[in-house]
Amino acid sequence: MNKPILIAGAGLGGIATALCLRARNVPFELFEQADAFHEVGAGIQLSANVMRILVKLGLGGPLAGISVMPKGLEVRSWQSGERILWTPLGYEAERHFGAPYYHAHRAEILSVLTDALGSEHVHFGCKVRSVGQDAHGAWLTLEDGSVHAGEAVIGADGIHSGIRDQLFGKDVPRFSGNVAWRGTLPADSVKALKLDFLSSNWWGPGRSLVHYFISGGKTLNWIGVSRSAVPSRESWSATGVVEEALAEYAGWHPQVLAVIQATTRLYRMALYDREPLATWQSERLVLLGDAAHAMLPYHAQGAAQSIEDAYVLAACIADSNDAPVAALARYERIRKERAEWVQRFSREAEELFNMSDPVKVARRDARLQENQKKYAAGFPEGQQRLYGYDAGAALAGMPA
Ligand SMILES: Cc1cc2nc3c(=O)[nH]c(=O)nc-3n(C[C@H](O)[C@H](O)[C@H](O)COP(=O)(O)OP(=O)(O)OC[C@H]3O[C@@H](n4cnc5c(N)ncnc54)[C@H](O)[C@@H]3O)c2cc1C
Repeated sequence: MNKPILIAGAGLGGIATALCLRARNVPFELFEQADAFHEVGAGIQLSANVMRILVKLGLGGPLAGISVMPKGLEVRSWQSGERILWTPLGYEAERHFGAPYYHAHRAEILSVLTDALGSEHVHFGCKVRSVGQDAHGAWLTLEDGSVHAGEAVIGADGIHSGIRDQLFGKDVPRFSGNVAWRGTLPADSVKALKLDFLSSNWWGPGRSLVHYFISGGKTLNWIGVSRSAVPSRESWSATGVVEEALAEYAGWHPQVLAVIQATTRLYRMALYDREPLATWQSERLVLLGDAAHAMLPYHAQGAAQSIEDAYVLAACIADSNDAPVAALARYERIRKERAEWVQRFSREAEELFNMSDPVKVARRDARLQENQKKYAAGFPEGQQRLYGYDAGAALAGMPA
């Protein structure tokens, strides 16, 4: 490519796109409205499908250094604590899926990615106002009026994407009827609970909660999702208070209450997703990550899908023989069906995780325990499809 690829938005999706382009010697310029890279102080799950890519980028070692590898995933009943589902993770999953599964702190992952990226070609305090194109190239215009030219523009500007609105018309994110609570606490403060390195999911009427260790085991992270009639703008910075969270989980198992009680940082945010778009591409302009397919967090896949997008998009551009429009079309052909399946699968999980009707809950738990027998020899179909995805194989399956 003669001119650079322009990326709008330096979230995990935009940063991964820059890293993947650089790995393939494609020039880029990355524009971020904030004054610095920023991620909220909470945990994130990095499943095998995304770790496979991050390992290829040479980040396996640094990520192992800041992460916890959970031994397994358990689902427990909210009041009795009875285990209704168990699937292995740890080395067994690494062997099976060919890449590890990690739990980590968002800010620490960000540091690993941005240390690898460096500051060259990254522009902070640059809010993109609009994008444009003609037959010879694409450009973006910043709030200060400056215009930057390139071969193509990638809108990686998140769930409230202005580029999505400009390209395909304004549609508002859908409020899911749920809020998420995100808490962290020093692991030492709950030592008495003797918690293991697990993804511990608790499902109860109208709410759920998952806790796991991050930061090499020094911090415990939890995410609770509960129904709320009060939508508020999706945001990482909205704070909640511990007493409110305790009231929300009143009557739950003592282990859950002890974790909430010990919380030292707590955020509360409303949960939104988006409807799928007919297309992500307009010639030399294209969407990536949450801008294209914002999803609910039940399967912990939003960032993973952004990074899968990034890997595939960079490869399509590098392989395209200087034909950006065809490259972006190939990217969409490879990625859209996969990302939208994950988006749908995440929406379906809402009912599974948070159902309230006691008859339905009993039926669900019985079904999970019955299914458990099948999983003894492997992994549930949903996990196979989520974690078994290989972005490299998907590229090979749809050649340029
Ligand atoms: C409660 C919760 C838990 C989650 N847990 C997980 C998990 O465990 N695993 C996982 O994979 N995913 C998880 N996710 C999803 C994940 O956080 C998101 O999908 C992911 O961060 C999206 O990345 P992105 O780069 O597409 O968008 P964003 O992270 O939103 O980044 C967009 C960037 O664009 C910038 N920007 C916006 N507008 C402009 C503009 N006009 N000009 C310039 N810059 C602009 C923003 O400042 C921002 O930096 C979770 C989400 C939630 C809500």
